[in-house]
Order: sequence, then structure tokens, then C-alpha cells
Amino acid sequence: MSSAQHTLEHVFGYDSFRGPQQAIIDTLIAGNDALVIMPTGGGKSLCYQIPSLVRDGCGVVISPLIALMQDQVDALRELGVRAGFLNSSLAADEAYATEQALLAGELDMLYVAPERLVQPRCQQLLQQAPIALFAIDEAHCVSQWGHDFRSDYLALGLLHEQFPDVPRIALTATADERTRAEIARRLQLEQAEHFLGGFDRPNIQYRIQQKDKPRQQLLKFLREEHPQQAGIVYCLSRNKVEQTAEFLCKEGYNALPYHAGLPANLRALHQQRFLREEQVIIVATIAFGMGIDKPDVRFVAHLDLPKSIEAYYQETGRAGRDGDPSTALLLYGLEDVVKLGQMLANSDGSEEHKRLERQRLDAMLGLCEITSCRRQVLLRYFGDVIAPCGNCDNCLNPPETWDATEATRKLLSCIYRTGQRFGANHVIDVLRGSENEKVQRAGHTQVSTYGIGKDLDNRQWRSVLRQLVALGYVEVNADAFGALQLTEQCRPLLKGEASLQLRRDTTPVSTGSRGRKGINADISDADLPLWQALKACRKRLADEHGVPPYVVFHDATLRDMLEQRPTTASELLAVSGVGDSKLERFGADFLEVLAEAEYATDP
Ligand code: ADP
Ligand code: ZN
Repeated sequence: MSSAQHTLEHVFGYDSFRGPQQAIIDTLIAGNDALVIMPTGGGKSLCYQIPSLVRDGCGVVISPLIALMQDQVDALRELGVRAGFLNSSLAADEAYATEQALLAGELDMLYVAPERLVQPRCQQLLQQAPIALFAIDEAHCVSQWGHDFRSDYLALGLLHEQFPDVPRIALTATADERTRAEIARRLQLEQAEHFLGGFDRPNIQYRIQQKDKPRQQLLKFLREEHPQQAGIVYCLSRNKVEQTAEFLCKEGYNALPYHAGLPANLRALHQQRFLREEQVIIVATIAFGMGIDKPDVRFVAHLDLPKSIEAYYQETGRAGRDGDPSTALLLYGLEDVVKLGQMLANSDGSEEHKRLERQRLDAMLGLCEITSCRRQVLLRYFGDVIAPCGNCDNCLNPPETWDATEATRKLLSCIYRTGQRFGANHVIDVLRGSENEKVQRAGHTQVSTYGIGKDLDNRQWRSVLRQLVALGYVEVNADAFGALQLTEQCRPLLKGEASLQLRRDTTPVSTGSRGRKGINADISDADLPLWQALKACRKRLADEHGVPPYVVFHDATLRDMLEQRPTTASELLAVSGVGDSKLERFGADFLEVLAEAEYATDP
């Protein structure tokens, strides 16, 4: 058995590598460099952890996420890996002890903040110690294009000159080609082998629904599919984050707000509770998430439209890192299309920048409106081609389309007849023959399109309009208070030379077969007591060790125990996620719980 495979089994308790992991690990063990692009949850950490253990010396991981280092190190220690970290949160004596451990060859892995690594003192320290490899995590931080740029990352190019014999691996989930090229150039990784992991995350079910009383939709989703589970709810504004968290708390959920306007210590506390406790829902702006490596996030719900497919994929990718079934739910409506369009138009930045952002938004809208497989569109964006996935709303419940040519003509003419100076509500009021004051005052009871759209209700008209905006027939003019305007594209439709099929928005039925207990649904009623006992045991051990429950064992490991019912240590070792160190630390406790269950069910 290769030593990488041996380490995978005995330290991590897994039996096989995922995707390109093995090839990446072999590259590093052979002393070569690697540039790794893999989606969130793809399994990047093993790519440097295993070579750090297999090669002589200590693996040095550079990460900007210093708030997470303690947890990462704790998790490694539970696996029996000798790990430490150096960042500004450490007292001088703690840092000194870690440095001495490094020099004495007593560390397998060392996490270092970039601002620390670029200090000459730190570099001298590393020169004196045997180094197995350098791993540069979140490598897109070196890119000045990205929003996560860190100037300290620029200096990491020096590693190559200072440690020419030490292999380096740079990792990121950011796919974009320009960023990738910039990483390679700035980190002097031109010689590195490139590994592009498949971007698919098959365990995530993608669903995009029309917004219709979004809070109730969210509530139904949580109740029916993810009760008592951890997840993230994303909103665009701080205000909405606060209100949504409050609403969920009133409904009995353990929901915590997270946004850049909260004091740093409260943010840290909420993040900590999300990681440590079970069943916490974080309601957040996009300020939350980078580097959150909680593996058992069961859902990510968006109550507002993300700005781009890339942002959407990264945010939803925070669900289900453990590979268990998870859901990404996006609720979106006409108001989102209007709001984002306006935000974009009013943002500072060059015309060129706005044009690019506009393109990104259009691609996102395209994803929302499409009637075929969502995952195909998502992955095509990253260059992957797949067959229809069978695990998105469109695959599971193919949407109906209808011939909307006539309705569209009515709507477009009404926009035209009212002078392209009014927003959605007014135009729909005119179409539906409303007698409200604004319609009267504008004299729009007299236009030829007044009242010609009574056959559709307000919701249906909004659905048509939303799709027309998303498809580029209608523009929302941000400078004119959201006035709707026709584009060139309308011409053939208005002239009767083209027809148009639109998606029929229906009140969504829940697609999940996962039913009332969410993921617990795979667990039979008979197994439920044991499942709960295993979870209680995990929670108790986690508290004793001061780590989050998933650091003791993932859900998948508990489920495997449920299936295999190990009665001996060697049987327990065969359970996925149980390695030597965890067997030693936790084995007896879990075997006891399993034995009690056996005893209880014996006739
Ligand atoms: P990333 O950093 O790419 O987002 P992680 O390294 O955190 O992903 O891995 C995601 C999850 O998948 C972790 O919980 C990890 O333990 C698990 N994992 C990684 N590789 C394997 C494997 N070969 N077999 C089973 N589980 C794995
Ligand atoms: Zn699909």
C-alpha cells in the first residue's frame, strides 16, 4: 500500500481518494508544485495534509482566515496530527512554544497567517526547520481583480526563491481563468502542474423558485425539509438580515444574524455558535462564509438574487461539504431584477466595469429562467459539460411553458403607449384596467391598452414581465426611477414576426423526497433512538474536547455506524471517517452506545 493510501485510511479513516486528490498528492510527494482549483467542499485540505504527513518535515499552510486556525488545528489534533499555528491572536509565549516545537521537529503541520510569513523573522525560523511543503490556501487573494485581495499575498512569490527545494501548492475555489493565470504568475507557479477538479457538487439539490411571500416560503422549506438542521440564509441588506433572523427566532428557530455592521465580537460569537452548536441557522449578507468549513451545512437559502453565477455557486457550495444530501434554494422575483439592475447602474466604477457586471447579472438571470437542467448551466459556466442531473428542480419537475406571445405583445404595447416612463406596478395597473388615482391622473384610462390584460392576474403579469426583463426584451431604467423601456429585441415580436414561450410559474411543491425529517429521513423509525443516542454521545465528547460535534465525527460516519453496527474496535475502524486516533479517543464510548442498543433490541 502506498504511504498516501495508508495515511488516508489510518489518519483520516477514509478508504478512497476523491477526484484528483490522489494525483495532486502524488505530485507533491514527488517534490513538484501544484495549482489546484476545486469547488468548495471538493476536498482540498487532504491535498496538502496527506503530503505534509508523508514527506519529511512540517507542512506550512498559509491562510488568511486566522479566525479558523484554532478550529483547524483542533480538528487535526483529534486525528492525532501534531499541528500548530502562528498568527496575531497568540500570546508571545504561545508563539514561542510553537516555534520551538517546529525547530525540534515536533510539528507535522503549521498554519501561518500571511502577514506573519512575510516577516523576515518568520522566514529565518522556517529556514532552520525541515519543511515538507508550502500550501497557499485561498490563493485567489493574490489577485488584484478579486474582491478578497490581500497585499501580503503578493510577497508569497518569494517563497520560491527562498525555498527552492520545497514543493508548493496553491489552492482556490475561484474558477475564473484570469484569476488562475494571475495566481500562477504572482506566486511563480508557472511550472506547477494545474489540477482542475470537476466542479459538480452532486449532493446539492438546486432549486430556484418565484418569490411569493418569501418568508412563508422559507418557513415551509425549513419545516418540511430541514427541521433541526444547520443552514445559511443569505439576504442582500443588513436590515433584511436582522428582520429575517428575528422572524425565524419568533418561529422557534435558533437563528443568528451576521453582517459587516455588527460589532466584531458579536460576529465572531455568532460564527462560533454556528460552528459549535447543532441546528443553528445563520442569516447573513455575503460577508459571511469565506472559509467556513463546517461540513454539515444542510441548506443554503437565498432570499435575494446573487450578483453572478460565480457568487451563487460559491455561496451555495457551502452546503453539504460532507457529501450528504443538501439543498440550495433561491427565491427570486421581479423586484430583485429591478433592484439589482438599479444598484448596478448607480454604482461607481467605469462603464467597462458596469458592462461586465451587467453580463454577469444577465447570466444569473438566465439561470433563473431556464426550463432545462440548472446544473448544466451552472457547470457550463465553469467549462464542465454534463448530462441533465436529475437533482435540480427543473429535472425533478420539468416546468411547463406556455405561448406568451399575445400576453407579451399586450405588455410591450402598454409600456410603449404609456410613454416608457413608468414602472412595473403602474404598467400592470393600466393593463388590468385599474381605476386607481395614479392611473387616472396620468390619463391612462384613455390609452388603447387600458384594461386589455384582465385575463391575467397581477402575479402572472409580474411573472411575464420578470421573464421579459431577464430575457432582455425590457430594460429597467435606473436613472428614471425604474421606468420600463423596450429594447431593439422587441421589434419582431411587436411586428408579429416572432413568438415567445415563457415558463409557467406555479406555486412550487416541495421537490425533496427527503420528507419531514430532512436528512434524518433516511433513518427508519426503528433506528431513530440509536441515531439520537449516537448524536448525544458525539455532542458530549465534543463538549469535553472543546470542539464542534463534526470534529468528533461527521453525520455520515454516524450513519455508517448505524448501518454497520460494529461491535468491536476493528469493526469500528472499518466505518468511514474512523481512523486510528479517533478510534482510540472515542471508540469505546461509541461502542458502548451501540452495544446498549443491541441489548435493548434483543428479544
Ligand atoms: P474544501 O477545502 O475543498 O472546501 P474540505 O477539504 O474541507 O473541502 O473537504 C470537504 C469534506 O470532505 C471534509 O469534511 C473532508 O473530511 C471530506 N473529504 C475530503 N476528502 C475525502 C475523501 N477522500 N473521502 C471522504 N471524505 C473526504
Ligand atoms: Zn438538473
